[in-house]
Amino acid sequence: MIPFNKPYETGNEIEYIKEAIANKKLSGNGEFTKRCQEFFEKKYGFNKCMLTTSCTDALEMAAILSNVSIDDEVIIPSYTFVSTALAFVRQGAKIVFIDSCVDNPNIDVDKIEELITNRTKAIVVVHYAGVACNMNKVMELASKYNITVIEDAAQAIDSYYLGKPLGSIGHLGCFSFHETKNITCGEGGMLTINDQKMISRAEVIWEKGTNRAEFYRGEINKYGWVDIGSSFLPSELNAAYLFAQLKEIDSIQSHRKQLWNIYYNKLNRNNLFSLPVLNNNATNNAHMFYIICLSLEIRTSLLEYLRKNGIFAVFHYQSLHCSKYYIDKHDGRVLENSDKFTNCLLRLPLYNDMTDENVDYIAMKINDFVRIYKER
Ligand SMILES: *Cc1c(COP(=O)(O)O)cnc(C)c1O
Repeated sequence: MIPFNKPYETGNEIEYIKEAIANKKLSGNGEFTKRCQEFFEKKYGFNKCMLTTSCTDALEMAAILSNVSIDDEVIIPSYTFVSTALAFVRQGAKIVFIDSCVDNPNIDVDKIEELITNRTKAIVVVHYAGVACNMNKVMELASKYNITVIEDAAQAIDSYYLGKPLGSIGHLGCFSFHETKNITCGEGGMLTINDQKMISRAEVIWEKGTNRAEFYRGEINKYGWVDIGSSFLPSELNAAYLFAQLKEIDSIQSHRKQLWNIYYNKLNRNNLFSLPVLNNNATNNAHMFYIICLSLEIRTSLLEYLRKNGIFAVFHYQSLHCSKYYIDKHDGRVLENSDKFTNCLLRLPLYNDMTDENVDYIAMKINDFVRIYKER
């Protein structure tokens, strides 16, 4: 069976974890946390990075930092993972769900302005499959209406929009190092803070609402409770694991891109499904290889055919505006593209341990399926 995902090990994780143990500092914000944060700040030019225990946590920090509360509205794509919306729901905000583009799951930026009201506090964009949303348009509207922009860059490490790293464009960016992402430490995440004014408060929220960060820097001689917050810092053991992965990020990325290109080149063009659209303004970080089937029926048949042939493909994201939790709170607008991806998008296996032959085999089986399906 070719699994959908396998977390990659560089082989150096254990050495770094041993070093973390030897450091006798296992809680957060130690040596490895700093090394990871510095790595990201240096490689991608992020203004300020803070490791978190997940992207969900980074989004929760972002929701607090953007001062979202009851009576505020936040514009969020419906076709995304629950956490994108959950973080803002926990602050009491009303979520105004926005539709995806017709040919890819990123938000349709031409539909943002009509959803903005005087209560709109934030917009959360999701760079689906690590391919950038139209950020020029998003940032233009954000400055026109004074709205905070949060990039859910969970899938978007090492990807760019017009030469700028994703996660560095909005006021805040949120990354995931969950085991299904390109770079992992099991469960992990990172907040990037691009708006200088938010940094000192972010440090407090990160450290359970205390000013411990200032204390460690020797700026104050006693620390205490100064704001809301939570325990958003990961353990040094997780940071050590992550650091091993960061050392290999370039080779991981180039191998993933190679696998992605094999899919893209070997899959025959046909009228049962379409392939991802490439975009000149945005890079592809090979987080995901997905196809968009013409119907739910074709997707179901293809998934079943692949399972029978030892290939574990999956689908994901049920439109959040139709979810059990939110449907009664949604304003009733139909979001047709989001619903189309809910029914028709299919994700193929893609992980660093795959071989070219694995991808060849999957592409061949899919091409076979297309032929068989048409001959029925
Ligand atoms: C994976 C993912 C998340 C959640 O990341 P965690 O690190 O598991 O909390 C959020 N948003 C998107 C778009 C994701 O793909």
